[in-house]
Amino acid sequence: METIKHPISAPHGTAHYELTSYHFGQPGGPKAYIQAALHADEVPAMLVAQALRQRLAALDAAGKVGGEVILVPAANPIGLAQVINERPFGRFDLSNGINFNRGYPHYCEQLKVRLAGQLGSDAQANVRTIRRHLRELVAQWQPASDATTLKKTLLQMAIDADVVLDLHCENEGALHLYVGTSLCDVAQPLANLMGACAVLYTTGAGGEPFDEACSRLWWDLAAHFGPQFPIPSACMAATVELRGEVSVSYELAARDADAIIAYLGVRGMVDAGAVAVPAQGCAPTPLEGTQRVDAPHSGMLVYRREVGDAVRAGDVVADLIDPVTGETTPLSAQVDGVLFTRLSHRYVIRGMNVAKIAGATPFRSGSLLSL
Ligand SMILES: [Zn+2]
Repeated sequence: METIKHPISAPHGTAHYELTSYHFGQPGGPKAYIQAALHADEVPAMLVAQALRQRLAALDAAGKVGGEVILVPAANPIGLAQVINERPFGRFDLSNGINFNRGYPHYCEQLKVRLAGQLGSDAQANVRTIRRHLRELVAQWQPASDATTLKKTLLQMAIDADVVLDLHCENEGALHLYVGTSLCDVAQPLANLMGACAVLYTTGAGGEPFDEACSRLWWDLAAHFGPQFPIPSACMAATVELRGEVSVSYELAARDADAIIAYLGVRGMVDAGAVAVPAQGCAPTPLEGTQRVDAPHSGMLVYRREVGDAVRAGDVVADLIDPVTGETTPLSAQVDGVLFTRLSHRYVIRGMNVAKIAGATPFRSGSLLSL
């Protein structure tokens, strides 16, 4: 195992951020990149990373890491330093309000120009060519802030990987995954091993999250160049939501880390022994079919359904109660599906999202992620 310290801050400052990555195996074979807590205060992800570090170190020492596995156990040192009134605050950059998991570059347009005349009929040769250009493009990125330097540093390690896992968690939630549409099949063993209650797929969620910076360019390029120049979806990038922010226990971390190691075994990146992938799992659903249940007014929030519950259109998932009059507004599912997120606060103001339900029928468009 090699440990690399990446300076994030520019000279002349008084506070300096540093990012640490652990590298297992050897470059040259299949590559996996795993980062935890890009939203800095999402502790379940960081605890899983520690369990992964132990397992990967043991596998590496035993010569059982066949390719290269990079683990970034705490992906956002800037956000980890942010606290407001004694509450850690790691989702948005306090200097500008930008979500740390948005605004990553989509290199498709530059690649369309660069790759003209460079591709052939050999899909794997095309993958190697595209990755060479990707590494060059990320290297040319000129960050103008610490947060952008952080983004570049993370993307530089991930952009040419075969598997990218971006570990997050919800306010409250059941375990679920976000993936690209063409990645559903290859993500299914991971979903089944982790016991996901939902796999949400789309060809583009909007907002340019980290996982799509690694994966979306592949199917966009394939559509542009056509079947004459085969381009596979070469990067299985997934955002993995590890339940809720207080779903922190050694047992869950061990279970999740074992599932991730097993998936790396399925992908031939580590020798994880015989892996039995559970046959039963949730059916993937389009992100465009996800219903947001939003608060129509302020009030006290009393949930009537748990995360992971299957609900039917018309089911009341929560009551919203006027704290003075007691008048109660039931908040209902409008689709059949799985309730996969809730809010951890129990007082909300108008417009706040209080739950999400994964439905099977697309009905939304535009920007599909939360702020
Ligand atoms: Zn997150």
